[in-house]
Amino acid sequence: MILWITIIPICNNHRGIEKHAGVHEVYVQYLKCSRCGTIYRLEDKPVMCRKKDLGRLDIIYDYEAIKEAISLDEIKKRDKNMWRYKEFLPVPDEKYIVSLGEGYTPLIKAKRLAEHLGLKNLYLKEETRNPTGSFKDRCMSVSVSMAKYFGFKRAAVASSGNAAAALAAYGARAGIEVYAFVPDFAGYGKIAQLLFYGAKVFRVKWTEAEDPTVKMMRLLAENYGFYPSPSFGPFNPYQIEGPKTIAMEIVEQLGLRVPDQVFIPTGAASLLTGVYNGFRDWNNVGWIDKYPKMVAVQPEGNHPFVRAWMERADPDKIRPWEKPPETVATGLEDTFPWDGDAGLRALYRTNGYGVVVSDPEIIEAMKLLASMEGIFAEPSGAAGLAGLIKALKEGKVDRDETIVVLVTGHGLKDPDIVKKTTGDAPTITASPEEFFKAAKEFYGVNVTG
Ligand SMILES: *Cc1c(COP(=O)(O)O)cnc(C)c1O
Repeated sequence: MILWITIIPICNNHRGIEKHAGVHEVYVQYLKCSRCGTIYRLEDKPVMCRKKDLGRLDIIYDYEAIKEAISLDEIKKRDKNMWRYKEFLPVPDEKYIVSLGEGYTPLIKAKRLAEHLGLKNLYLKEETRNPTGSFKDRCMSVSVSMAKYFGFKRAAVASSGNAAAALAAYGARAGIEVYAFVPDFAGYGKIAQLLFYGAKVFRVKWTEAEDPTVKMMRLLAENYGFYPSPSFGPFNPYQIEGPKTIAMEIVEQLGLRVPDQVFIPTGAASLLTGVYNGFRDWNNVGWIDKYPKMVAVQPEGNHPFVRAWMERADPDKIRPWEKPPETVATGLEDTFPWDGDAGLRALYRTNGYGVVVSDPEIIEAMKLLASMEGIFAEPSGAAGLAGLIKALKEGKVDRDETIVVLVTGHGLKDPDIVKKTTGDAPTITASPEEFFKAAKEFYGVNVTG
């Protein structure tokens, strides 16, 4: 008994957090570099490993303390956004939280699609409904909240895609300047959203093998006090905590059940790692007692992560893709999966696997999602479904398993691809005869009978 009494205060001191009004308890014990093992404390405001070895600062939580502090019943009473899981997130005080109401997206039971595919329990995690149209909002809500806590004034990101759009929006809300470095050939569509949020966007010329946008971000972070905030771990360990809440929501929305398989479109493998870590956290507090199979889906024209799984590679020795990526799924173009080490371990530990899909298969999945379930996803957002269809063909899915497919990004993000694949609509004058004729010729439907 005496021992018990003395241990508790020491644990609390170890967390270095005082309990008083307005401050919510932080359960981060320490951060540990995934490469060199150097330990950091949250109070030291670490973002990248000091040793410059591009290890990720994995965040280690005190699960015993979390378990004592909070129950599932209490969580269920909270607001329906991802901050209902704040004990599992690293932000030390609610006053730092920068939120646009991200998370707690619907888990939709896909009845027509399930029937079409011959499945019984198919669910779509509908991430296109996040504030800027992709799950990256979860990442950037956590990242920008931490930037606010640390006191950064300027953030830098290497991306023209969803991560930059999300950072720009949350940066705007927090009053933090956002500098986005995009490849010189990036499409205007994606840049427009960034510019409207007030981000300062720069097209960077691609003159050497190294990604020049990542190089710019790294130089500014290491030498000029910018807060690096891409959606991969070695440059920012906080954002990867956001997608943990996807796993927690899935469990809650399934009535405290763990699905059998989760299909995840994969680029840098940060999303996959984050989702795995969410299941890990709830296993660690004892609220669930198993994992789903984690399934990584990558496009044929860039699949370094799935290739590594196929080769049963050492997670610390993943080879980058040798060629420029060629795919309609622009959100999955990372030629090196920055969080592939942790992602590959997640596949091995959950008996998961990787699937490769072609561009036509991705576009077919987009069409199925939109026309059978009313969900309009961008190609990267629909790749998970393409992966499920492939896995079914390869005999990796049983008909009565509970399957969750992450639908990660909105179709309006990429209008070019829509026009390219479906074409434009026919033009008619306002006459029933012309309508009947065009309906038949263009859509193959007979509406007169
Ligand atoms: C970023 C992104 C992904 C992939 O996430 P990674 O963490 O890079 O693996 C998938 N879908 C969409 C829409 C994305 O924006």
